[in-house]
Parts: sequence; C-alpha cells; structure tokens
Amino acid sequence: MAAAPALKHWRTTLERVEKFVSPLYFTDCNLRGRLFGDSCPVAELSSFLTPERLPYQEAVQQDFRPAQVGDSFGPTWWTCWFRVELTIPEAWVGQEVHLRWESDGEGLVWRDGEPVQGLTKEGEKTSYILTDKLGEKDPRSLTLYVEVACNGLLGAGKGSMIAAPDPEKMFQVSRAELAVFHRDVYKLLVDLELLLGIAKGLGEDNQRSFQALYTANQMVNVCDPAQPETFPVAQALASKFFGQRGGESQHTIHAMGHCHIDTAWLWPFKETVRKCARSWVTVVQLMERNPEFIFACSQAQQLEWVRSHYPGLHARLQEFACRGQFVPVGGTWVEMDGNLPSGESMVRQFLQGQNFFRQEFGKMCSEFWLPDTFGYSAQLPQIMRSCGIKRFLTQKLSWNLVNSFPHHTFFWEGLDGSQVLAHFPPGDSYGMQGSVEEVLKTVAKNRDKGRTNHSAFLFGFGDGGGGPTQTMVDRLKRLCNTDGLPRVQLSSPEQLFSALEGHSGQLCTWVGELFLELHNGTYTTHAQIKKGNRECERILHDVELLSSLALARSAQFLYPAALLQDLWRLLLLTQFHDVVTGSCIQLVAEEAMCHYEDIRSHGNTLLSAAAAALCAGEPGPEGLLIVNTLPWKRTEVLALPRPGGAHCLGMSWLLPSPGHCPRHGLCSCPRPHLTAAPAAPAACVRSARAPADLASRPPPTKTDGSVTLDNGILRVRLDPTGRLTSLVLVASGREAIAEGAAGNQFVLFDDVPLYWDAWDVMDYHLETRKPVLGQAGTLAVGTEGGVRGSAWFLLQISPNSRLSQEVVLDVGCPYVRFHTEVHWHEAHKFLKVEFPARVRSPQATYEVQFGHLQRPTHYNTSWDWARFEVWAHRWMDLSEHGFGLALLNDCKYGASVRGNVLSLSLLRAPKSPDATVDMGRHEFTYALMPHKGSFQDAGVIPAAYSLNFPLLALPAPGPAPAAAWSAFSVSSPAVVLETVKQAETSPQGRTLLLRLYEAHGSHSDCWLHTSLPVQEAVLCDFLERRDPAGPLLLRDNRLKLAFTPFQVQSLLLVLQPPPN
Ligand SMILES: [Zn+2]
Repeated sequence: MAAAPALKHWRTTLERVEKFVSPLYFTDCNLRGRLFGDSCPVAELSSFLTPERLPYQEAVQQDFRPAQVGDSFGPTWWTCWFRVELTIPEAWVGQEVHLRWESDGEGLVWRDGEPVQGLTKEGEKTSYILTDKLGEKDPRSLTLYVEVACNGLLGAGKGSMIAAPDPEKMFQVSRAELAVFHRDVYKLLVDLELLLGIAKGLGEDNQRSFQALYTANQMVNVCDPAQPETFPVAQALASKFFGQRGGESQHTIHAMGHCHIDTAWLWPFKETVRKCARSWVTVVQLMERNPEFIFACSQAQQLEWVRSHYPGLHARLQEFACRGQFVPVGGTWVEMDGNLPSGESMVRQFLQGQNFFRQEFGKMCSEFWLPDTFGYSAQLPQIMRSCGIKRFLTQKLSWNLVNSFPHHTFFWEGLDGSQVLAHFPPGDSYGMQGSVEEVLKTVAKNRDKGRTNHSAFLFGFGDGGGGPTQTMVDRLKRLCNTDGLPRVQLSSPEQLFSALEGHSGQLCTWVGELFLELHNGTYTTHAQIKKGNRECERILHDVELLSSLALARSAQFLYPAALLQDLWRLLLLTQFHDVVTGSCIQLVAEEAMCHYEDIRSHGNTLLSAAAAALCAGEPGPEGLLIVNTLPWKRTEVLALPRPGGAHCLGMSWLLPSPGHCPRHGLCSCPRPHLTAAPAAPAACVRSARAPADLASRPPPTKTDGSVTLDNGILRVRLDPTGRLTSLVLVASGREAIAEGAAGNQFVLFDDVPLYWDAWDVMDYHLETRKPVLGQAGTLAVGTEGGVRGSAWFLLQISPNSRLSQEVVLDVGCPYVRFHTEVHWHEAHKFLKVEFPARVRSPQATYEVQFGHLQRPTHYNTSWDWARFEVWAHRWMDLSEHGFGLALLNDCKYGASVRGNVLSLSLLRAPKSPDATVDMGRHEFTYALMPHKGSFQDAGVIPAAYSLNFPLLALPAPGPAPAAAWSAFSVSSPAVVLETVKQAETSPQGRTLLLRLYEAHGSHSDCWLHTSLPVQEAVLCDFLERRDPAGPLLLRDNRLKLAFTPFQVQSLLLVLQPPPN
C-alpha cells in the first residue's frame, strides 16, 4: 500500500534529495554510492619519468620501472609515462567496465599506439570506458599507456592560480583501478540533479518548481539503491516530468560543445600541443557516442599542431568535420588579442587561418570566434567582412567592471561602417556545464528579450579540461523540450546565427570599438614583448616589400614565400591573447622572445638577399643601399654604419617617385652629415651629402642649466632636470606646453589591482600619482649640432630604478625624439610620462588598426571614466581648431588623455603570473610633434610611420644601383600604401598584392602610380580573391582608386614576364 500523502517542507524535501545524490554524505547508502560496483587494482603499474615531451613511439621504448598508486613524481613540466597492465575479472562479463584514474597531472590514455582519451580531474574526466558490455569471448587482458604531464589544468601556480609556477611541484596518481559502472544509476543521478536544479532555479513561487521537487521526492521514495529492479519505476517518474512539453514561445538555447584552450598562458606553448590532443581525442569519443553532439573548435594553429604531432587524431577530426559534428570556427590563426596587433597582422590572422581551414577541412569559417580577449578593435568588422565573415561571437564584455553592455545580440558597426552580426552568449561564459541554473541564466540575462528568441550556450571544460563530458551532453539532451524551461537544442554556430539573422530587423546597432573595462594593464605589461611585436611587424613589412621589388626587378630572384609564411605564423602565434598582452608566465615570455629573435635574424637575412638582388647588374661603386619602405618622400638624418661597427650620422632625403639622386660613395665623413635616401614605398638611393643650408643648424645652447634645441621648425627648451618647459612651432611662434607646466614629466603610481596582477590597472592608481623629481645640473649637451642636436640627462626614479634620456632634434624633422633607457626594478609601480598641452578639447584621437578614433578627455559619465587607461598604436593627438600636439611612440600601447594632459604608459611591475616581468633594462623612443592645422594635414600620420620605419641602410654586396628609383607613389596624402607582398596565389610567382587604406577619415580619390612592369591590376578581398568586377583601368602605369573613410582596399598586380 502506498504511503499516504504528507505535508512537505520545502527545505527538508530539497535537502533530502540532495543527500540522495551527494558524493560527500551518506554514500554508504545513497544512490551516488552505487555508481560504481565491484573494483580491482590494475595488474601491474610501471613508469618512466622524463623532462622531455616525447612522442609515443619513443616513450614506450624506454626503461619502465615498477610503480605504485601514491608514488610521487615530478617536478613541474616533466612527464611521467605509465604502463598499465590490466586484467578484467571474468565475473564481470555482461557489465560496463571502466579504468578509473585520478592524478593531479593531466593525463592522456594511449591504446594500441593511438591516443584515445584525456584524463583530467579538474575536467571531470577520471574514468576511461574499457568496454560498454564485457562479452564472454572478449579479451580481458590489455596494456595501456597513460602519459601524465607534471602540470595541472591551469599550470602549476605556487599558492594561487595566477601565481608564478612552482618549479619544484611534485605530482601523484591517487587512483588506478578497474571498476564496474552502473549506467542505470548514472541515468537516475542525471535526472535527479536536473530536477533539483529546476526546483531551486524556478523557486518557491513557481508551480513547475514544486512539480520538479515532488517528482524527485517521489523518485527517492520508490528507489532502493541496493535493488536495481526499483530503478525503472523511478526512471519512469522522471521521464513523465521531462516529457511534459513547453509552448511555442519557448526561448531556444543553442548548446554547442566547446573547449577554450589558451594557446599559451600559465603553461608553455609545447604543453598546449598536448592539451589539444588530450581534449580533442576526448571530444572525438563523445562525438562517436552522441551523433547529435556538435563541437565548435577555433584556432588553426592548434589544429596544425595536432596535424603534425597526432596525424591519426587529425584524420578523425577531418572525418567528423565532414559529418558536421566537428565545426572549425573563428577563421583566425590563433585567438589573438583584439587591441594590440596591427591592422596587417589582423588581416594575416584571418588569411593564415582561413587558408588552413579551407585546406584541411574543406571550407572556411563563417563566424569570427573570440570569446576571451580584452577588447575588440573598431576595425574588426571591416577585416572580418573582407575575410568572408559576417558573424561574430564573444562574451568577454561581460567582464566589464563598470558598465553593463546593453546587448547580447546586435549589429556591430566598425570604423568604416562595415557591419557584422554579433552575439554574446547571455550566460556570460564559454565554459558552461549544462546545469539548469546556467540554462535559466541564459534566458534571464538576455538583454535583447523581445528582439530575438535564440541564444548560444557554450559548454565544456577549457584549457585542457577536455571539453564537454557525457554528463553535460545527457543533461542538455534531457532538457530538449520541457515545460517551464527554455528549449535546448544541441546545435551549431550555423544554426544559431541563421536563427538570429531571422530576427535581424529588430536588432540594435553598436558603433565603434568594443572596449573592455578591465585588463587595461595588458597594453603595457611586458614591454619587451610589446617591443618585439612592433619590431617584427616592421621587419616583415620591410622584407615583403623589398622581396616584392626584387621579384619585379630580377628574373633570378625567388620570393621567400614559404619562409615568410613561417615567420608570419610565429608572429601571429605570439599575438595570442595571453602572450602579446603580457599576461603569461615567464616560460612563455621566453619562448616569445625566441620567436621574435627568429623573425629578426631570418628577416635580416631576407633583407640582405633582397638587397643583393636589387643591386645586381647595376653599375656603381660598392656601397650601401638606402631604402625607404614608406610610400612618401622622406628627408631624414640617418646613422650610417662605418667600418669597425661605428656609425656616423648622415641625412637622407627621399626623392619623389621615380627620381634620381646624386651619386655618392659610402658615407665616410669624419663627422655627422646629411645623406640622401629615396621616397615612396621602396625607392633605393645611395647616400648623399645634404644641401649646405639644411646641414648647418645652430648648435644647442645651454644657459642656467637649461638647454635649447632649435632646428628652424621646432624650438625645444629643457629645464636643468630634463623636463620640457617650452616647445614652440617656430614659424608661428605658437607654444605647445601648457602655461606654468612642464612636459616630459615622469610620474610613478602605486599599481596594486584587485586580483589580476599582470592584467589590471585600477582607476584608483590615479590617486597615487607621484612626479619623479630630477636633480638640477644633470642636463648636458649631447650632439653639438650640424644635422643633429641633442641633450641628455639622468634621472633617479627611485632608490632601485634609474633612467637616462637623450632628447634629439634633427635638421628638417617636425618632431623631437626622446630616446629613453630605463633600468627598472620595482614592485607594483607604474611609470608614465606626461605632457600638459596648451590645447583644449573634449576629445583626443588615438591611432588604431588602419585608422584612428576619438575618446573623451573627460570623465562625465561612467562610460567615460571607465576608459581612464586606453590603448593606441603609433600615435595619439590632442587638437583644437588650428593647432594640436601629437605624441608618437615606437613600441608602446598604453595611453590616456585627461583634460589637457597627454600621458604615455611606459612600464609596469606586476608579479603574477610572471614574477620577473619587466625587471631590468628597457629602451624605447617616443616623440612629440606640435602642429598647426589638423593632425591629418600636418602629417602626424607619416611622422609616426617614419619613427617606426627607419630608413634602411643595407650593405650592398655588389654594385648598388646608381640612381634612385621609386616603385610606388600615391597621389593623396590620405591614402597609405601599407603592404606590398607576393600574392598567395601567384602564377609564375609574378603577382603582387598591395594593401592601401584611407587614413584621414575622408572620402578620397587617388592615383596609384608604379614604375613596375604591371600588365593587369584587379581589386581583391583580404583573402586575395579577385573582385568579380574584373581588372581596373591601367594607363601610363597609373590607376585610380576611390576610398571611403577608413576603407582598406587590396589590389592584385600581375607583373609582366621577367625581362630575360
Ligand atoms: Zn583565453
């Protein structure tokens, strides 16, 4: 006879069910305690320890020694291989049998020479299914290998997750046994947990919540854990509940498996290779068992690693990609930082990524996928669109500290007006676990209710956690359509975005950058990485340009396409969102520095090779090839190499395109002088003496300890401590420094964030501003005039840190440079330099990828003050009508303008996750350029390019060309020719790719002129696919281009066959 209905207390009923499924309490008698039945130890365990990450074939040849559960091994970053001999007891025939394995290091199971499953405790992957049902004739003895890395899911931080790794950490295997798995118990546990989630999530005001709770209670009543024959009755109760359907208006959740793997972060790049294998092999298993399960996978680099290290796994991934279960997403080489990489670097992320996806998986990605980076450039929509992508997914803006972003589904409009459909999963995570709480949150938090009825839900453990679990998949399948809850559909990015596009008429538009109000320290942390990034972007630019010219001019020259692709991929790798940002451990930073060094050394070799090709066959004396890699004429002082490693100053002026220049030999003058160099992206000239009038400026003058530098354009006055007390545009007499204030003022701030040390600088650091006071009398005259005047000084920043600076003013140069060397030994301090300007404007301008944007100089609203620290590329500018002051830099990214004070962020000193970050010597240059008129008309943009792309003086192995020549010129100062390279697809190697952008923010028509033998010109997209409209009209080596504001255009130029 059934028990009579009783009054039920909410809490006791709920907790009763919780205890029935608890892994902690009452496991002697509850259902959870019955999940596994009989168990037995493995027959034999032996191990082999190595500091290397060995391939399987090599590892299993090694000398394995007997081992036991509980043995410890290590230290950090080593690998322990286990050979596991096992024999399943005969009595277990008919049962499901698992190998249960628990260790604090991440494991990978190998069976018959192939990886079969990852084992990660933090990713809830602690058992490997040996057989679903042991057959009578099945072999019961087996040898497996388990490769255990001596690091946890999130590395090996000493004491806290983001602390620097503990190099001495030891690891342990705490369980290695065979056990019978009770699948029927497992199913009841999944249902009971879901019912508990529904009861709690919907709460006591909700009828459906009580139905869930009463169903669960009734299941406990009928279910005797010791008697499996009672389970079907309990199961039927659950099925009845979950079978009650919802209505037509239910919100639809698109659940997609995902595993966000940071390409390097709290562990080195090499460990990521194994994290990918461990995770994806687990995903393959899940896809096999669940044909409706779909997994979205980003980052071509990680797939490339798996392709080369685990070809068998790669083939399986290709197979599942064909079935539509494994869905490559993102389109980029890695999930790069969204702020710091240059425009060209971002294009290459997509170019390398999309080409890889097409080659390996048969199609390109149709959505940009960047769930976890620290802000998104306003140029990304245009770059995405030109790379075949109209859809964008992220969630990181949910980390905003101050303002809550108003949308989850919206159109994102970029700097040039390009739009993409953006979706932020409203559950604010990319690592969901399929709980009812998360499902309900996804519906409740959606900021676009009423506009759309679809959301994304990304589930799975990231960073080596192996992605989704079977339990997550089972939970989500059970929630496919249950009254009281949203509809949950195992779905794909394609299905999600198609559904969202169906509602697009209702969606709002957000214009401009997606600024993350957090992690603003990442613009500055790890100055050497920032410098390496900027420098390598320049080197690759110069190499591609010179190699292209060599290709056009020399029939023998072979464009180094394969090597350049390798070098680009190295740079793209370092632009990962925890590397270029400086938020990685020391080991990763060291690897990044090696990559930069590779790019530098190969880059220099390639530059020499191209220079040699350009010189060949031309008459002329041995000498230097002086190359201007920018698309406009330049006249600059240049340091020329002299025998014995010394340098002398020369002045170069670049000629208007195809020009000529006086012939001169190698610079050999005894003192600084002017040399001439060419104009327009890559014109090549010899060194030459400058005209006499340019070469003879008055030397710096020193009075009362102050120094004045004057080049006829600027007059710079430094006080005896090196501060800038006056900066005058000579022609107009206009003063750029605020009255009574001094520029070049170094300031120190306390820099103690709330938690994310390397990442965050908090608004309150501004309250701790301390000007660094210099000592009078330290300023001295450096170079005494001629083509260059300079002054230098020393500054003690603190008892441990010091700085020296040379302030340089060259003949003909519109800006004054500050070459800075810092010895930095601080903890939690932030060094900046400030320039109070005699300028008033509510907005300042900052350079971004292929353009610039404005941000406020005031803190009116919370959105304004949340941007107290922002990022910029090579320049920033504060202008009022008719006059402004620009601050240029050669390797910095952090900046701010508050009121009239321009501030450049120089160095930080966080201690986690890299305790050594930024300690030591630094060298960088910034420059100040006052100007009349607008920054566009005054040439701030070319000036910032010049600072970043010095003229090249390459030793010419053979005779250097006798005359200067110029390959390209553009008629409009608004249009920048950014890139010249060989096209990816280039029949006979003779097609060049040019990329130009409109930099002023204006509609602009221009003529592109080239002296190269071009036979056809056609527009193309960033993936270099020809414009179907066909070739452009090419006449007299010129073609006309029309630009809209900040538009980027790419062009294919087919060269005529080589001359011989
Ligand atoms: Zn990440």
